[in-house]
Order: sequence, then structure tokens, then C-alpha cells
Amino acid sequence: MSEKHITILGGGPCGLYAAHTALELGAKITLYEKEDSFGGLAAGHLLGGNWFDLGVHMLHCFDSEIFATCKQVMGEERIEVPLKSHIKWGGKTYHYPLRGRDILAGIPPLTLARCLTGLFIAELQTRFSKSTLGADAQSALIELYGEPLYEFFFEEFTHRYWGIHPRDLSAEFVRRKMPRLSAVDVFKNLLEKLHLTKPRDTTEGALRFETLHYSKTGSETLPRSLATSLQSRGASLHLDSPITKITHNKDLITGTNHGSKTGHFLSTIPLPHLIRALDPPPPPEILHAASQLRFKPMTVYALLIKKEKCMDSLYTYYRDRVFHRVGEPKNAGLLVRPEGHTTLIVETTCEIDDPKWTGQALPEIIADLEAEGLCTPEEITSHHLIHATHAYPIFANGFETHLKEITTYLQRFTNLRTTGRQGAFTYPNMHTAMRMGATTTRELLTK
Ligand SMILES: Cc1cc2nc3c(=O)[nH]c(=O)nc-3n(C[C@H](O)[C@H](O)[C@H](O)COP(=O)(O)OP(=O)(O)OC[C@H]3O[C@@H](n4cnc5c(N)ncnc54)[C@H](O)[C@@H]3O)c2cc1C
Repeated sequence: MSEKHITILGGGPCGLYAAHTALELGAKITLYEKEDSFGGLAAGHLLGGNWFDLGVHMLHCFDSEIFATCKQVMGEERIEVPLKSHIKWGGKTYHYPLRGRDILAGIPPLTLARCLTGLFIAELQTRFSKSTLGADAQSALIELYGEPLYEFFFEEFTHRYWGIHPRDLSAEFVRRKMPRLSAVDVFKNLLEKLHLTKPRDTTEGALRFETLHYSKTGSETLPRSLATSLQSRGASLHLDSPITKITHNKDLITGTNHGSKTGHFLSTIPLPHLIRALDPPPPPEILHAASQLRFKPMTVYALLIKKEKCMDSLYTYYRDRVFHRVGEPKNAGLLVRPEGHTTLIVETTCEIDDPKWTGQALPEIIADLEAEGLCTPEEITSHHLIHATHAYPIFANGFETHLKEITTYLQRFTNLRTTGRQGAFTYPNMHTAMRMGATTTRELLTK
């Protein structure tokens, strides 16, 4: 095999697995990560002697090849955890992922009749006319579920979680991010609840009994052990090495602020950053398109609690609280110190410098945790904040055009590919991001 070189930008799950694939293909690797540890959104944070994730990060085993590698590198540190998660709203606790029957069970009888009629009409319409899913998330949700259920559930839920009204989000958001819940499924679930049909073997059913993978130190284990394995096989990995400049000459990338390099380049850093780092800069319309791709930041309130246990599940989603999800990783096997304590990971989507970002929302968060019976203010021993500026890509109306403009422009660079959650502006989980890294690396190195 001829010797090839690949420079990888970003050391999250995608970049690390891209490096693993490149090594298997016999390439030499240089990887640059801007932070002081690997893992990106899935990195671990050691705060006050305890490990915290940015939202409990657990590995799924749906991709057998990737799972086999993770299993091997994590070794004895890997813990198998049965998925147990809930969603709470209106004072009731439901199973998560949300089942159609749960949505319906939470609705008052008259509204329920309206919602069922709306669902039925929506289902008939999509059966007999070609579904377009409309121009924005509002029309897509109404097309799928009918107006009454949209007004009762999806409008407020989406608005609260994302801080953006569904009419300002693209229909693509519904396709990629919202769970599909057809009227037929809802009716079947209802019949199932009334014991008129047998429970079905569906994807949702599979998720219900899914096994996840974690460790005593939380999500830090996977990126750390992947990086250690890469380094032991000769990969050159650099922490604290932000990419601020990417030089190019005609149709080739020639290097970064860390020096010139020949060979291939794989970027997993946020797409707008890649565009802004290009030297010489791209045309103004491409810079403008990049400025239109926005991300939703998030702040995690990492709390140490003087209590053995706060909740029954691994994590619970909340509809009516200042936070949208609370995880208790001790229930997945995390080691918490000192004894008799547990930790809570409280997730909030926010804007940079708003009260949730700065920590000023802490009193409100504590009040909501107490109202949910999770802990009292006195039981909170310490708190830390973890920030992510690029937690979720925002599929705002019109983002597809900007994304297309940028990707078409980048196609001129024959030795560059951009992929992963940030690089492709999409919503993978860890194993999908790793698969994206593997596929793109293979394309680059074997073309
Ligand atoms: C709250 C939350 C919970 C989640 N829970 C799960 C879960 O339980 N299970 C699961 O499978 N997935 C989960 N995910 C998804 C998972 O985090 C992502 O799919 C995964 O991290 C994507 O990997 P990536 O490498 O593509 O991107 P990232 O993880 O974002 O990695 C990108 C890397 O690039 C680096 N970088 C950025 N700019 C530069 C620069 N200029 N120079 C150098 N480096 C740079 C970043 O520091 C980062 O390390 C969750 C996501 C969120 C937000």
C-alpha cells in the first residue's frame, strides 16, 4: 500500500474514528484538536473530583463494526446499561421515547377527540395526496399530526426546547430530528393499550429494551481510550491546537496555521469555522452563507448532591421546567465521590451570555429540581457549568440553500472533505458520527 497522509481537524468521535480508519488503510495521521482533551461534545469534564458529561453520553451498539472497535478499546472499563428513561409533563411521568399512547393519555377527553379527528384527517390526506411536508416545521407537523395535536403538543414543546417557533424552522428539522409518529401508529398503540392487539416488534420496541454502554468515569472513557490506541499505533494527535487558518492553492488545501502539509484533509470542525479559516478567503457570498448557519448553544449545570440517589431513570426529559433534561449517571454505573453522594447533569438550551449561560438561572433551576422532588437546595453540595457553543445545528428556514452553496464551493478542493456533526451540519449520535468519519476517510484515501 502506498504511504498516504491525512490531516484531521477536530478530535471528537468523528475525527478519532476517521483516524482509526485511516490507520487501517495504512495512512499516516496528524490530528489537531482545539481543546485540552479529546471527545468534542462527548468529552468528559473532571470538576471538583467527579466526572461529568455534557448530557449523559452513552454508546449505542447499532453499528456492529464500530461497536466492536469501541468494545475493544474500552476493554474492562465498559459497563452495559439497560436504557431506562422518562419524560414528565403535566405532573405525569411517561416512558421515553414518547409513545403515541402517552401523548394521547395526557390529553383531556374533549381535546383528545379533536386531536384524534385531526390525526385521522391528516393521515387520510397523506395517504391520498403526495406528502411534501410543507415549507416549514409548522406546516410539516400539521401535515403529519393534524392541527389540534400540533397546537396541543408540538408547537409549545418545539418552541420551548429550541427557543425557535416551528414556523421559523425548516421542514427538514421534522424529518431529521422529531420522532415520526403516524396516526396509524397512534391508533394501534391505543388498541394495544386497550389489550385489543398484541404489542408489536417495532424500532420503538427495540429502543424500549435497548442496552447502552458507559463507564465508571462516564463518557470520557471512549475518546480517551480511542486516542490512546491511535497514539500507540503511531498517530500524531495534538491537543490545545485550534485550527485558525487553512491555506489553499487553486484546488488543493496546502496546510493550516500548524504548518504546510501534503496529502488529504478531513475537517470535522463547525462548517462556518472552516469557511472563515480559508486563506485566501472565499467569495463574500460564501462567507455570508456560512454566517447564516447557526448553532444552538447549551449549558449543563453539573451538580454534586448529598444523597444516594435522586431519580429512578438514567435521565428524564421535562416539558414544563427551565431545564429540558436531567441525567443521573450514577444510575448507569458512574463512580461518585464522596460516598453517599450522587451527581445530576441538568441540561438547558440557551443563548450565549443569557442567564442560563452565565449561571444566573441557578436559583430557578434549583427551585425546579426541588419542585420535581429530585433534591433540596441544602442537598446541593457544589455546582459547575459546562458550556457548548455548537450543541445543535439549527435547521432555520432556508438553511438548505446556504448549506448547498457552501458544499458546492468546497467541492473544488479535491483533497478536502468535511463531515461529522459540525462538519456536515447535522444531528448524528456518536456511532453515526464515527461512521461518517470512517466512510469519508475511505472515500478520500481510496479514490
Ligand atoms: C446533550 C447531548 C447529548 C448527547 N448524548 C448522546 C448519547 O447519549 N449518545 C450518542 O451516541 N450521542 C449523543 N450525542 C451526540 C454526540 O455528542 C455527537 O454525535 C458526537 O459528539 C459528534 O461527534 P463529532 O466528532 O462529529 O462532533 P464533535 O463532538 O462536536 O467534535 C468536533 C471536535 O472538533 C473540535 N474543534 C472545533 N473547532 C475546532 C478548531 N477550530 N480547531 C480544532 N478543533 C476544533 C471540537 O473541540 C470537537 O472536539 C449527544 C449530543 C448532545 C448535544
